[in-house]
Amino acid sequence: MSGYRYKRVLLKLSGEALMGEGSFGIDPHVTERLARQIKAISDDGIEVGIVVGGGNIFRGLAGSASGMDRAQADYMGMLATIMNALALQDAFEQQGASCRVMSAIQMNEVCEPYIRRRAMNHLAKGDIVIFAAGSGNPYFTTDTAAALRACEIGADCLIKATKVDGIYDMDPVDNEEAVRFESISYREVLVRGLQVMDATATALSQDNNMPIIVINIDGEDTIKRALAGEPVGTVVYQED
Ligand code: UDP
Repeated sequence: MSGYRYKRVLLKLSGEALMGEGSFGIDPHVTERLARQIKAISDDGIEVGIVVGGGNIFRGLAGSASGMDRAQADYMGMLATIMNALALQDAFEQQGASCRVMSAIQMNEVCEPYIRRRAMNHLAKGDIVIFAAGSGNPYFTTDTAAALRACEIGADCLIKATKVDGIYDMDPVDNEEAVRFESISYREVLVRGLQVMDATATALSQDNNMPIIVINIDGEDTIKRALAGEPVGTVVYQED
């Protein structure tokens, strides 16, 4: 694993990242491309855990906005992440990679339950581990689940792969003059209210000194370059 700065990574993939150019669901070309990129890193000896979102299928907040009970809607959101996890696992297996899905909501017919020590063993053996069903609790997001799992498995960094290539001082979609940070402290992210991760995920990472790297999901080898310490996105760090 020469050339890498980090040995164990927790990668957060948003559900939206899986739908490609579509507006819903899973694009098999995208899962294939992601699986190829991530397998290459795993083959280099990097231990990879993944938390996948569910926003391409269902979000609890959208459900509650249309009148559903929030907790009930959040459970539906968590089930959506399991579907995404199974699609990703399939893509990994088609590439010949060994991949486990561990769910925070037990669903023994389709995947393993999340057991931290077992997850650590899988990672140490070189299996790619996908953590499904978020944290298993309503009122949370998969960003927070990613920060939590990153801390639990002793990851060296948390990479959030999104549709944007880093953290900007304002929304780059609506503002041409938006400027991207190469690095920024957790405190500044929280004080400025930057929409990179929800505040719970940022605060949990800050409390546990977990570096966050925000990168664009679309590049061919962006994840590898981020793990090598190249300035491909934005690094969120602890202030001295
Ligand atoms: N969710 C939850 N608890 C968790 C993680 C996720 O209740 O620990 C639900 C929540 O309703 C959320 C949905 O699952 O809207 C999908 O996750 P998220 O919105 O984080 O997915 P992403 O935006 O990354 O696609």
